[in-house]
Order: sequence, then C-alpha cells, then structure tokens
Amino acid sequence: MQSCDLLFDREHIWHPYTSLQDPLPVFPVQRAQGCEIELTDGRRLVDGMSSWWAAIHGYNHPHLNAAAQAQLNDMSHVMFGGLTHQPAVDLCRRLVRHSPDGLERVFLADSGSVSVEVAIKMAVQYWYAKDLPGKNRLATLRGGYHGDTFAAMSVCDPVNGMHSLFRGSLREQLFAPVPELTPADEWNDAALAPLEQLLREHQHELAALILEPVVQGAGGMRFYHPNYLKHAAALCERYQVLLIADEIATGFGRTGRWFACEHASITPDIMCVGKALTGGYMTQAAVLCTDDVGNTISQGPAAGTFMHGPTFMGNPLACAVANASLELLEADHWRGQVAAIEAQLVAELSPLKQLQSVADVRCFGAIGVVEMVSPVNVAAVQQQFVEAGVWIRPFGKLVYLMPPFVITSEQLSKLTHAIGELARNG
Ligand SMILES: *Cc1c(COP(=O)(O)O)cnc(C)c1O
Repeated sequence: MQSCDLLFDREHIWHPYTSLQDPLPVFPVQRAQGCEIELTDGRRLVDGMSSWWAAIHGYNHPHLNAAAQAQLNDMSHVMFGGLTHQPAVDLCRRLVRHSPDGLERVFLADSGSVSVEVAIKMAVQYWYAKDLPGKNRLATLRGGYHGDTFAAMSVCDPVNGMHSLFRGSLREQLFAPVPELTPADEWNDAALAPLEQLLREHQHELAALILEPVVQGAGGMRFYHPNYLKHAAALCERYQVLLIADEIATGFGRTGRWFACEHASITPDIMCVGKALTGGYMTQAAVLCTDDVGNTISQGPAAGTFMHGPTFMGNPLACAVANASLELLEADHWRGQVAAIEAQLVAELSPLKQLQSVADVRCFGAIGVVEMVSPVNVAAVQQQFVEAGVWIRPFGKLVYLMPPFVITSEQLSKLTHAIGELARNG
C-alpha cells in the first residue's frame, strides 16, 4: 500500500469548489486503469464520472500512452508564436473534418473556460470589425454553465453561478428562461417566444447568444428539445446575433453524435470544445469558427489581429494525445457503446422514478441523471458510494452518471445499483 499525505492536503490545498475551513473529504488515488480508479488502500472504484466528461476511453489507455510517450521524445512543448508542428496541424484538420460543416478556422486554447473567453472575444471583435462596437453584450439561457473565468461566469446561471457574490465585477448579461421542452416532449413553437423577444429587443447590443447545445451540464443536468436549438440558430440569423455553441461537455460522442449540434443539424458561428478532447489526459481546448467570423475579424482594425495568445497554445504533447483520442473515435466503436450505455441507463434507472425520494430520472446518450427530491449530503453519500465500490459525485439534488464509453455492462450495473440503493435507503 502506498500513502498520500492527506494531512498536508487538508491543511494547504484547495480542491474544486471547497472551503479550507471545512473541506469535504478527499480520497487518495494510486492509479487508474480502464474504467476503474484505484485508491491507495487498494480499493478499486468503478468510474461513473469520466473525470468530469473527459476520460471517454477509460484511464491509462495504451494508444494514448504511446502517443504521449512518442511525442515526449520529440518535444513536450514549443511556443506557438512563429512556430508550428504537425501534431497541431493534424489535430486542427481533424477538428475541422468532424465538426459541423462550415466551421473552418481553429484557435487552440488551454482550457474550457479559456475557450469560452476566446469565443466571446471573437464575437465582440467580429462586430467591432463591422463597425458595430455597440454589439458587445451576450444573451444566454438560465441553467447554463460555461466555466469559471469572469466572462464565462457572467453567462453561467445567475443563481448557481453566485452572481450576487461578484456583483460589480461581472458584466450583466441577458438571460432567457431554461428551455422547458425535453427531447421526449412534443415540440411547440411557443417555446421559443421568450428567447425571440429577448433577441428582438436587444439585437442592437448583442454580440452573441451562447448556449450548451441540447444538454445543459453542470448548471443542472437538463436535456432540452433539439428543435429549440434549431430555431434558436434561425433566430440568431434573423436578428444578426452570432451563435456560440459550447460543446465542451457534449462534444466527442457523449450524446450519441460527434457534436450535440448535429441533433438539430445546425452549424453555429463559433464552437468551443474541451474536456474529452484529449481523452481526459490533460488540459486542452479549441474554438472553431466559420470563414465569415475568421475573415471579418482578420479584416478589422488592429491590423486584423485576433487578441489572444496563451503561453501553452497548441501544446504538442496535448495535441498528440488529442490526435490519438480522435483516432480511437474515428474507429467508430463509440456509437454502439454510447447507444448501449443509453439503453442500459434507461432500463436500470427509470424504475427509480417510482420511489418517493426521486423527483425525476432522465437519460440522453451516455448520460443518466437521477434528480432527488431533496439535496444529498455529498460527504456522506460519497463515502457510501466508495464503500460500494463506485465513484459517483453528486451535486445538489443531482446524482448522475457519464461513464467512459468503454464501460462494461457489469460495471455500469454496479453504478446504477449503487444509485438505486441510495434512492431506496437514503
Ligand atoms: C466544464 C465546462 C466548461 C469549463 O471548462 P474548464 O476546462 O473547466 O475550464 C465550460 N463549458 C461547459 C459546458 C463545461 O461543461
């Protein structure tokens, strides 16, 4: 057994969204392999989270490891200002090929949140270049999540995103209600009315509408009707507002398509990807845009310069691993895997709807969500899950699964069973 200095961790290290005074317990990990996370005490947990949407091929994958090792022997990093390399070219070529038709230009960024900042800057620079600098505000949907940096935070749900805490530091954006119709509901055009009103009334000051296509992730784990997205894209065109699709959670197969925009057959003007881009190996994101957006910015003031350039832009190691991850996706096994995961989630989670403790059960692609009637005690439930041999991290009332695509049906049953136990016995 190996050890991890939990005392130092507790006294000195912030974990995501935690207090230093009263931190939630953390579990020390020794290694991870396939769909299992192994703790330092040897216990092995079936992974239900893909490390926040990212580890779609499972952990310690030989193909991704080989790509990282080969790249390491050439170079881990060189600056992207004035230099380029084949791993970046291959990656961008792949992103252009697999993304919705019309997205032709790529900006490599360091994380999801940064890619959202980049997308917003693109939208603002686009209208500036068209001599409409007043179009610099954003519209978005309530219940969304777009990251933790300031511009990204400004378009997160104002309640979940704690906008009151940052009042004065955050730009006030414009919010349409959470789309109410789910993919299973009958479509009704009236669902678009609030968004249409917002775009119509504010078109003169709006640079873009930013949304998560079809699946709202960390802001509430909701699925909405693809027709909403389709019509929203048409409204953006009518009112001359750019559409930014945040595919950071949904991209790379999670919803049963390469990108969730495909459910509505739309091409956004700008698209952000991240999370699963490197198969969960390291941080890397990208922003794609149309020729119109790219060319307009490039013909604008400031010599057409797009004003962003991170130090680690186009990191070769991350590009090499992302290429390996996309190669695995190109083999196309994921379609069958995601369909099988969806069918099993529906079969094994839907019966929980009958329980008094459960408010709703919903599944879409390789995502299964059990919404409880009351918020769960994360620390206690996490402990209980670990004892049951599973890694599931609830938030609020939401207990949800988004496992690696390569999970076996036995492993997935272990996850759904653990959620069933929680729902039945608290
Ligand atoms: C996770 C996420 C982000 C932020 O990505 P980071 O890599 O955590 O900065 C943005 N948008 C969506 C939809 C996400 O799920």
